[in-house]
Amino acid sequence: MSMEGNVALVTGGSRGIGRAICLELARQGAAVAVNYAGSSQAAEETAEQCRALGVEAEVFQADVSDPAACSALVAAVKERFGRLDILVNNAGISRDGLLMTAKEEDFTQTLDTNLKGAYFCTKAAAKVMVRQKYGRIICLSSVVGLRGNPGQTAYAASKAGILGLVKAAAKELAGRDITVNAVAPGYIETDMTAVLPDKAKEAMRTTIPKGRPGSPEEVARAAVFFAAPESAYITGQVLCVDGGMAV
Ligand code: NAP
Repeated sequence: MSMEGNVALVTGGSRGIGRAICLELARQGAAVAVNYAGSSQAAEETAEQCRALGVEAEVFQADVSDPAACSALVAAVKERFGRLDILVNNAGISRDGLLMTAKEEDFTQTLDTNLKGAYFCTKAAAKVMVRQKYGRIICLSSVVGLRGNPGQTAYAASKAGILGLVKAAAKELAGRDITVNAVAPGYIETDMTAVLPDKAKEAMRTTIPKGRPGSPEEVARAAVFFAAPESAYITGQVLCVDGGMAV
């Protein structure tokens, strides 16, 4: 599996799972565009770590909840690297709260970032990939999008929406050697889950047959599997990386 000559854009590449995906893509030889929203220093560190692996890497600030910013992001990456082979829609947030008391702005922000962001980055990237007649698009869903979780109705809706987007786009783009797939992580140790109360973490652990949380690197390996040229015949699929949680 070599991705030499490929250019990858990872949204939310500054931290957590996104950073691990950037590094795994770099290990396979892809040039990496590291997107971030606010953490410029962390994004620079990711890019530096990619360059240390021998590939070109650069950071691109863009708030993916803004559709105009998504098109500008893809245009900037194309301008800098000349092509775009791999898009990883990883940027995401969770604004948890019970259905009956959750605020409308939290719902809107969650859907705008997690679903609208992936939709508009995919739309912009597809235009480039269709012309190239090649592309690999990977979206981060979640076990919560497949199974639901109390206190996460907005997040679950956004991650279930990702699955519809992936399946429809997979059918639309298949004829141009563009695949679209989803990775659905379970409980992964990142900043997103670090803020959960210890009781919630312990409760979650008991639902994982493997008995432990996953690492960002374990998710990255699944994303990079879909990103490989050799994965050409796999599209519209959802791969759970969850220690057996969703079985
Ligand atoms: P994280 O550690 O909180 O990192 C989130 C990343 O998304 C950061 O790089 C952040 O950029 C970026 N981001 C957030 N809002 C953005 C925006 N509007 N525009 C551009 N970038 C934005 O999260 P994570 O745990 O690595 O999660 C990564 C993905 O996996 C998410 O889609 C998440 O829903 C999904 N996932 C995670 C888990 C888990 O257990 N951790 C489970 C299932 C699915 P800044 O650094 O600039 O803020």
